[in-house]
Amino acid sequence: MKYVENILGTIGNTPLVKMNVLTSEIEALVLAKYETFNPGNSVKDRMALKMVEEAEEKGLINKGGTIIEGTSGNTGMGLALAAIVKGYKMVCVLSDKQSKEKMDILKAVGCEVVVCPTNVAADDPQSYYSVARKMAEETPNSWYVNQYDNLANSKAHYESTGPEIWEQTDGKVTHFVAGVGTGGTISGVGRFLKEQNPNIKIWGIDTYGSVFKKYHETREFDENEIYPYTTEGIGEDILPKNVDFDVIDGFTKVTDKDAAVYTRRLAKEEGFFLGNSAGAAVKGLLQLKSNFSKEDVVVVLFHDHGSRYVGKIYNDEWMKAHDFM
Ligand code: PMP
Repeated sequence: MKYVENILGTIGNTPLVKMNVLTSEIEALVLAKYETFNPGNSVKDRMALKMVEEAEEKGLINKGGTIIEGTSGNTGMGLALAAIVKGYKMVCVLSDKQSKEKMDILKAVGCEVVVCPTNVAADDPQSYYSVARKMAEETPNSWYVNQYDNLANSKAHYESTGPEIWEQTDGKVTHFVAGVGTGGTISGVGRFLKEQNPNIKIWGIDTYGSVFKKYHETREFDENEIYPYTTEGIGEDILPKNVDFDVIDGFTKVTDKDAAVYTRRLAKEEGFFLGNSAGAAVKGLLQLKSNFSKEDVVVVLFHDHGSRYVGKIYNDEWMKAHDFM
């Protein structure tokens, strides 16, 4: 018989899928690391499990305890799966720009969901960062995950996502492209790939309203770069410890409209029903096309699934209200 012990045993080993239509103007082979095959439908299952396992090893969480995290939804889902299997309670603190689907999905897997305003500074007591931290201080036997600065996040990708890409491409990968939020994915994968072959280029996808690109280029934290945006999952108004700027060769910024339009095009033209950051990633990849030559093997990672965006990106009224259609 071939089976896994529980749902956590299905995390990882996601497929690489060739892109055939949207990237046809690029001569290189473009392969999508298709992370929605994880049980929580996102790449975040990998790092969620790793962070919980490391917290258990360090004695930061005990049986029956409460896991608390500020999450845009995907990390919450991954943590919820780990919490169910391992016997913890799960509280997710979200900002109110997150899709209703994400909130309902988290409730479906047993999370308590706390919603905070989006348009406040990260250090404002109302921000979801602050609320999550405070709840953890006030809840007995709780553990605040902090995916931004918890280095088990990028380690998960160093140990699983990176090696998978290396093996699946037979070591032929030349470029890796991924959206950057906490930085865990790009930094862990990037570090692993560069250790195998230092010539591999690592490109980050950023959004307008985020500090990453300018910080990477100037090492200046420019508050003028911070303003509200609709793209979910990527860009930050803080510098998470998981972003290793030295591993990243460059960033490109994608507009909210392009991210939304290209998310829809992925579904219609490739049959890839994915989340908002996938549209940003593929548009960013097209913006970077002068960097790729015919022999190159470009891997782009798609973080999450379209089902979480049916009320937004895949909803005509929402698209029209934002002038995206
Ligand atoms: N896309 C989506 C949909 C996400 O939820 C996240 C995580 N915030 C990212 C991209 C960015 O991944 P990472 O946090 O590993 O940089």
